[in-house]
This record gives sequence, C-alpha cells and structure tokens, in this order.
Amino acid sequence: MTTSKETLQKQVCEAIERRADTLIGMGETIRHQPELGFKEFKTAALVAQMFESVRVPHRTGLANTGVKAELKGAKPGPAVALVGELDALVVSGHPLADPVTGAAHACGHNAQVTAVVGATMALVDTGAMQYLAGRIVPFAVPAEEYGDIAWRLEQVRAGQLEFLGGKPELIRHGHFDDIDMAILIHTTSRAEDKSAGIAASNNGCVVKTVRYVGRAAHAGSAPHLGVNALYAANLALSAINALRETFQERDTIRVHPVITQGGKQVNVIPGEVHLETYVRGKSVRAIMDANMKVDRALRAGALAMGAQVEITTLPGYMPLTNNPALAQVFRRNAETLVGTERYVTQGHRTGSTDMGDVSQIMPAVQGYMSGASGTGHGADYMITDPRFAYLGQAQALAMTAIDLLYGDAGTANEILRDYKAPMSRAEYLAFQRGINKTERYDGSA
Ligand SMILES: [Zn+2]
Ligand SMILES: [Zn+2]
Repeated sequence: MTTSKETLQKQVCEAIERRADTLIGMGETIRHQPELGFKEFKTAALVAQMFESVRVPHRTGLANTGVKAELKGAKPGPAVALVGELDALVVSGHPLADPVTGAAHACGHNAQVTAVVGATMALVDTGAMQYLAGRIVPFAVPAEEYGDIAWRLEQVRAGQLEFLGGKPELIRHGHFDDIDMAILIHTTSRAEDKSAGIAASNNGCVVKTVRYVGRAAHAGSAPHLGVNALYAANLALSAINALRETFQERDTIRVHPVITQGGKQVNVIPGEVHLETYVRGKSVRAIMDANMKVDRALRAGALAMGAQVEITTLPGYMPLTNNPALAQVFRRNAETLVGTERYVTQGHRTGSTDMGDVSQIMPAVQGYMSGASGTGHGADYMITDPRFAYLGQAQALAMTAIDLLYGDAGTANEILRDYKAPMSRAEYLAFQRGINKTERYDGSA
C-alpha cells in the first residue's frame, strides 16, 4: 500500500506535534546554554543524543562540533541536507548571555538545530523514508557567526582550522561532497518578513584584522616621543567614513569596523591598537573594489601619524544566491503551513552567511520563518513563539524534503538537471585561499 505525498507530509507534521514537549524543551535548553562557534560542545552533544534516541546513524566532531546524520530512502537518489547552525554570538547586555563568554542566542540558531532534529524524528516516527528516493542528511553545523576572531586565528596557527567559518571548514574537509542540495531555515524577528519567506540573495564579505604599531611614551611628560597608534586608527576610520559616498547603492557595501584594542593604560601613548572589520557587498567584484579603498584608508592613518600598520585580509563568506527552483519548493510547502498571504518573496539582503559558500557549489536556499521578536544580534532578541519557531520550522523542513525526494525524487532531480554550479569545490577553495593576505605598510618610511 502506498501513501500519497500529501498524506505523508501531513503525517510528518502530526509527528512533529507529538514531539512538541521534547522539541520545545530542546530549543529552550540551547537558548539557555549559548556557545560560541567551533566550541558548541554541549549543543552538539544534545543534537547527537537526540539522533541517538531515534537510532539515526550520525558522525560527530566534524570541523570541531558538527553533527551529520543520514536517513536512507528506499531507492538511490540525490542527497538533501537539512542544515541547522549550532552557534551563538557575543551580544552585550543580552539577558541570557553566558556570564563567562558573553555568548547569547540573538540570531535564533537554537531554533534551526531544533527544527533539523524535529524533522529527523518525525521522518523516523512515520517511516517516511520508505516512500522516498535518495538520502536526507540532517546536518548541525558549527560557527556561522564570524566572530571571536582572535581565538579562531590561534586555532589557525595551531593547524586546527584553516577557514574561520563553519561551512567553509566543512567544505574543506569534504563533508559536503556527498550532498547534492542544502536547505536551511533561519528564524526572523522582522515584521516585514511575515511568517515565512525567502530572499533572492545576500551580501558576501571579506574579513580584516588590522594592527597599528606606534611608539609608547609618557602621555603627560613626553607625548612628543610617542607615536599614537590610536590616532592613526582614528584617522583611518574617518577616511573609511569619507569613502562611503563613493559606494554605490547597487553594490550594498557595508563596512563596520570595531576597535578591539584601543590602548592599555591611560597615562601611556597607545603604542599598539587593533581593529577588525568586514567589507560586505553584493558581488565579489563590489567587495574587492571596496576592500581596495578600505586598505588605502588604513594606510592613510599610518602615513599621517608615522605609524606602521599590518592589514590582514581573511576569506569571509561568499554572496548567497538562493536557488530559484529550490526556493519554489520551499515556498509551496511553507505556504501550506502559513498561508499565501503570510509568505513573502524578498529581494537582496545585506547580511552575510556561509550558506553563501554552499550556494556557490550546489543548489541551496536559506528561508526565513518567524517566531522571534527584537533586533537580530540585539540584546532584546527573543523567541516569542516557541511552537512556531521550533515546530513550524521543523514541519517546513520535513515537508520540503519529502516534496524533493518523494517517489523517484523527481522534484530534486529536475532541479539538479537544470543546475550548473558557479564554482566547483576545488575552484571555491582556491578562490577563498586566494583572499588570504597580510600587508605591512610603514608610514614613517
Ligand atoms: Zn547572526
Ligand atoms: Zn544567523
């Protein structure tokens, strides 16, 4: 006896409802134990324990903390990854921030991983895989938020990491090699995003760490003997701000530096000052053009003060292009859940994500679903509708996966037939490696 696709989807949605207590408990547990990228050990252990509880085979410790499971369909076919991010980020003043690390779930990633687990459990509970071809790969991944850079660079020097983001690391290790397409649903707190939707694209970025070196001296009795590295940095920040009028709207450039070390003691002329910034833009061309201007501004600060500057440019995230055909499949399933009037198709978004990197090598989408309130990355970000954030996202993921792989996986195969990846995996890795560069400029010479 066979079960229709729609009946199967309904059964899976009901199975997620039956798991409500477990899933809401999981989402809230993660929300209360936020961990920074590549260090999400407790969160990863919880995900693994959940896979264990439904006897789903999985691997752990991928790129430090990634957990990759596998559900096999009845016949061979494409592999669809259901991706959820494990990490939190440092947000000052967040009420649930970890007192030691400052980490808080102010981007809703706790809902993503919970949804991946919820979809997995329901697919197992209902025996849905016997009606599908190919494989579903529930994949909890580390370190989407690109921060904690000093610590990550230590890991690079120690040979533990090459890239500073989770998905680039997973791609480097080949953990996306056996996957054909990837879906992630991100929680949103913005009213204009309605209940569910998908954007056309997202900015990409490069990441920069900057070290100004001047000369320390007594700030009261002998400032003339010093070279003030903080003022060199200030001049560079002013120059970057002056350059903003040259950025064109169509390129959606975002440059937002922070001073991570501004001086050590107030009666000493700062001898060393550190900055970090991203340079974001809509296309690789736009990012590299703005990056060249930012480098010029950084050198200008050193030149004015006679200081030295060391500029390190690191590979960030590639621009995200959501695959239109895959987005349509997400759309029809999300609309079944939320109604057509609560679904919104958007244009370009100016944040960056390493789903962009995945989108360079396979059909990928990052959808949005509501359930949170407050400002993304802000101290007031909260999950306000746990049922929708944890269960609704799980239902949308599971329904989309079933739609793609039902029967002979006709929907997924059609998407793959019409798809040509912008880059091969080798080309992607070569491109990102090519970004990596350290330049030293001596403004006193
Ligand atoms: Zn975020
Ligand atoms: Zn996020």
